[in-house]
Amino acid sequence: MQPEWSIYKEFYFEAAHKLPHHEGKCSRLHGHSWLGRVYVKGHTLQPDGSEQGMLMDFGKIQSYIHPIIENYLDHYYLNETTGLESPTSEELARWIYEKLELAGLPGLDAVEIRETCTSGCIYRT
Ligand SMILES: [Zn+2]
Repeated sequence: MQPEWSIYKEFYFEAAHKLPHHEGKCSRLHGHSWLGRVYVKGHTLQPDGSEQGMLMDFGKIQSYIHPIIENYLDHYYLNETTGLESPTSEELARWIYEKLELAGLPGLDAVEIRETCTSGCIYRT
């Protein structure tokens, strides 16, 4: 079996959302301190150069996620900035995954989103 590494970079943002169809309090406008992870996987490590022995420099993953956080997520109203009618953790994880895919992050494996300490999801294709 081929060896495989899966590395991740965590990110944080504060943002508001509401789930208009929810039959509970989530239909009201409220905010979370969101926590996420971008997972990158691969079978080979860099043989030389500044990333020698790494799958990918963690800073490189950061450079892909940072503009998304700054332009769409941190201190924004997610229903507006993402265009999602109901930005649940599931929908948001997929939305971020697709943004990273569009930006061309090599080896993109999954995006994890946690909206509370005990609740979250992982999206991969
Ligand atoms: Zn919520």
